[in-house]
Amino acid sequence: MEEAPLLWIDEWNFWARIAAYVFISLAVLRMLAYYIKLASLKEYKDKYDYINENEIGALWQSSLLLLVGASLLANSFLAEIGIFWFIIRWVTTLSIAIVLAVIINNLLKFYYPFYVEKRLRQLRYKPRISPKTGKPMKLLSEEEEDVYLDEGMQAEEEVFSVDYDVWVDEETGYTKIEKYSGHLHAERCPECGYLTLRVVKEEIVTQPTYEEEGELIKYYICSYCDYKAQTTFKVAKLKSKPAETATA
Ligand SMILES: [Zn+2]
Repeated sequence: MEEAPLLWIDEWNFWARIAAYVFISLAVLRMLAYYIKLASLKEYKDKYDYINENEIGALWQSSLLLLVGASLLANSFLAEIGIFWFIIRWVTTLSIAIVLAVIINNLLKFYYPFYVEKRLRQLRYKPRISPKTGKPMKLLSEEEEDVYLDEGMQAEEEVFSVDYDVWVDEETGYTKIEKYSGHLHAERCPECGYLTLRVVKEEIVTQPTYEEEGELIKYYICSYCDYKAQTTFKVAKLKSKPAETATA
């Protein structure tokens, strides 16, 4: 059976190619915008947060734009073709695009985080420069830093999934405190091995008193394999308040 060739195929080719270039340009611009914003951030901590929150999303959006662009481009050099083959071509192209999207999505969700994690760790422990002296500051250990953290921060660090890093300029005593939240940060799942285990809820089941320790439960869920875990933590006894601070 001979099909009648589509009469509008030249116009189609023309506009599909233009649309393809627009989508491909948008994909490039999306990544460009990401890297320009990242480069504009001076503080390592700001870069850390920005990468942590945006990098995978930006790559995903850019990939989708690129796939749409590539699908259009692949169908914009059509010679004489009937409606039947035109539709078959599109169904095939979209199927390939969807398979690629699923593969990219999986790579970004489950393998790429290992790479992000490595860079985040480097950013977190890169020596901070003191604005007073221009020299590198010192990162205090968990024991040393308590002097610089107020009681609320210490309690938060002890109990919730929060880490404070304290950097000190030993010459001038200038300090810089950075807060890292465990909720944004995934750990390795013991079930599937991916970096997809996150704290979803923290609950104090027994309030600590001056006499007794309290109890806290952290709930974890793996976004890959749905593995669930909960861990019980002791919450330190309340420190008995000195009488003179009670008025504050
Ligand atoms: Zn898992």
